[in-house]
Amino acid sequence: MSEKDLVLDLQNLNVKFVTEESTVYAINGLNMQLERGKAIGLVGETGAGKTTTALSLLKLVQTPPGVVECDKMMLNGKDMLTLSEKELEAARGKDVSMIFQDPMTALNPVFTVGEQIAESVFLHENCTKEEANQRAIEMLELVGIPGERAGEFPHQFSGGMKQRVVIAIALACHPQLLIADEPTTALDVTIQAQVLDMMKNLREQYQTSLIMITHDLGIVAEICDEVAVMYAGTIVEKGTLEDVFNHTKHPYTEGLFNSLPNINDRKAKLTPIKGLMPDPSNLPEGCAFHPRCPYATEACKKPQTLRQISDTHYVVCDRYNDPDFRIEREER
Ligand code: SF4
Repeated sequence: MSEKDLVLDLQNLNVKFVTEESTVYAINGLNMQLERGKAIGLVGETGAGKTTTALSLLKLVQTPPGVVECDKMMLNGKDMLTLSEKELEAARGKDVSMIFQDPMTALNPVFTVGEQIAESVFLHENCTKEEANQRAIEMLELVGIPGERAGEFPHQFSGGMKQRVVIAIALACHPQLLIADEPTTALDVTIQAQVLDMMKNLREQYQTSLIMITHDLGIVAEICDEVAVMYAGTIVEKGTLEDVFNHTKHPYTEGLFNSLPNINDRKAKLTPIKGLMPDPSNLPEGCAFHPRCPYATEACKKPQTLRQISDTHYVVCDRYNDPDFRIEREER
């Protein structure tokens, strides 16, 4: 795939937070590529490093205590590692935009929602204030809120409507890449479905690429083309929806699926993954999943390599070098 087909090319991202007490290794050698127009779901437990990955892409990790190192970070054809602060400000909102988890805190309570959408348009587009205000009204209508409510303040909106406003701000300048960090977690289930539907439609309308950060595999199945499963600051399995959902390879991904309720067998007990995510300031040697993995051997305590299963499917688990292990897992 050529550079121009990729909206994101990230290679060997490492993020650590250094304090006097300890060093927290949040992201460890993460690689990710995303084709233009595609949506990828970044899934994993709390503490896997999903949000830190997103903040690194926007260059919003606070340094110090954060230390961000990366071999390559090309976003919409721009080398994010070499941009000045002014160029980064121009890129945020236009090349890449982010929807934060909690709509209650993402909006400024002292400005009207219209002003908050128009501000982003005015900053990034070469337009007058009147044109920016007009775009704000159009964006509100696009996310299902009557344009005449542009003059109202965030406290006058429900949680679901606030999240629609946040999405309107994120999409107002038609970014090439949208990062949505658990955009529906704070919403109730019926509103979640509406917001997801709306995001799907807007993404198709604007051909926006999407990184959907979530721990909910149902949301990924609903809205994404690809899945990347994160554990302890790195991607352990990546593939298309079909690869990861129907031909699961990594034992951690298998554990995530086993811990979901089965709609066809309501009496079946859930099988949670034993143990907890490791302490990022004291990660286990080799495969960080080995203390919890039912298939672990002594060899798992050595550094693991990325293995290509098919054109689109990758797994980081050296046990796949053993043909017996592969056959046993394929026959399950
Ligand atoms: Fe489990 Fe070993 Fe594979 Fe890690 S490398 S996932 S411990 S089998």
